[in-house]
Amino acid sequence: MALIVQKYGGTSVANVEKIKNVADRVIKEYKKGRQIVVVVSAMGDATDQLVELVGKVASNPDPREVDMLLTTGEQVSIALLSMAIQAKGYQAISLTGSQVKITTDNRHNRAEIMKIDNARILTELKAGKIVVVAGFQGINTLDDFTTLGRGGSDTTAVAIAASLGAKRCELYSDVDGIYTTDPRMIAKARKLTSISYQEMLEMANLGAKVLHPRSVELAKHYQIKLYIASSFNYHPGTTVEGMDEMEKRKNVTGVTCDKNEVKITVQEVPDHPGIAGQLFNNLAKYGINVDMIIQNLQRNNKNDITFTISKEDLLKGKKYITEIAQGLGSSRVEIDPTVAKVSIIGAGMITTPGIAAKMFTALGQAQINIQMITTSDIKVSVLINEELAEQAVHVLHDCFELAGETGDWQEQAK
Ligand code: ADP
Ligand code: ASP
Ligand code: MG
Repeated sequence: MALIVQKYGGTSVANVEKIKNVADRVIKEYKKGRQIVVVVSAMGDATDQLVELVGKVASNPDPREVDMLLTTGEQVSIALLSMAIQAKGYQAISLTGSQVKITTDNRHNRAEIMKIDNARILTELKAGKIVVVAGFQGINTLDDFTTLGRGGSDTTAVAIAASLGAKRCELYSDVDGIYTTDPRMIAKARKLTSISYQEMLEMANLGAKVLHPRSVELAKHYQIKLYIASSFNYHPGTTVEGMDEMEKRKNVTGVTCDKNEVKITVQEVPDHPGIAGQLFNNLAKYGINVDMIIQNLQRNNKNDITFTISKEDLLKGKKYITEIAQGLGSSRVEIDPTVAKVSIIGAGMITTPGIAAKMFTALGQAQINIQMITTSDIKVSVLINEELAEQAVHVLHDCFELAGETGDWQEQAK
């Protein structure tokens, strides 16, 4: 019997009516004779509300306790969805991450799944039930609850698909596919029929929050085809799959914008071998992930080293950064949160020269100053003033001719 794994995000289960809608959609698949595992997120902005509560009781909360709280969001939605399915006359059972035995590492708030025990899911499927699993959560080797990082339900779904040997995983959201850029920012963004794992991974890592980056990594590794579509209609969505199955496409497939970066400049560190190594090794020791890096302005045998980190890492590591910089002999640390990283992504870049030049020229013509640049085979990222981020995305979307028809998904998602 064909097995299918579906995931419904927070907006798809935001209220009782939407939960009933998901129940109908799941039952429709079940009636086709399929075995179904459904992964769900917490209702609407439930997780945001829980995070807000944390902020009201502690400024430096214990990550274990944060996970204890955040996992409750998904426990509500799985129970409600199971009851909604049962109320329509079908068998369903809800399971938490710990009941399934989704084992993760011990990194609270951003754990990685290490192993999934299929036994309970398979038993329930065999008994003819629709199995509803809580996304975003697992259990570590100490039997404590963990969470996979914001947006992590996508990863739960793909990991379960991989563990059960499914070749396809369907992820339903408020948007009916992957667009050339966030369609909330640019109404004329075009829906893609397909996108390669590599491009999707870059887009996810560079700020397109439509998919959790780890879910794409897992899908690529286990060769699971992802299908992204809306839970509010049956419009054809987007498949994420291997490069060879891709339609021939333009040099640039998408544009992303990430406002979660902070620029740090460690001023006047001695210009001798090993300094950069020490700086970044020490940052890594405190779990601070560095993204873009430049070294600039040599004067009196001193350099400035500028790098970017996420806003969360700044909160967590501000005091360490200052200590590390002072330890290296730096005169000052400058922190600038008013930056955004705007990127273009496209597998066609590998073979087409001049794409980066075209990007920089377009931004220059729009008077948008570039502060930092990073590139890979299939992406170019620039750091710019945060206030100009939307404008930059528009400029690049136009420059690489990415526009399509305006969709009606936003109306239906309300
Ligand atoms: P869910 O709660 O279903 O997981 P998310 O809010 O995590 O949904 O992701 C869907 C949102 O991702 C959309 O509402 C859209 O604004 C945003 N998004 C950002 N970039 C893109 C893109 N390139 N294509 C589609 N959606 C995007
Ligand atoms: N509920 C979690 C979050 O809001 C996980 C998810 O939605 O994927 O981040
Ligand atoms: Mg999501």
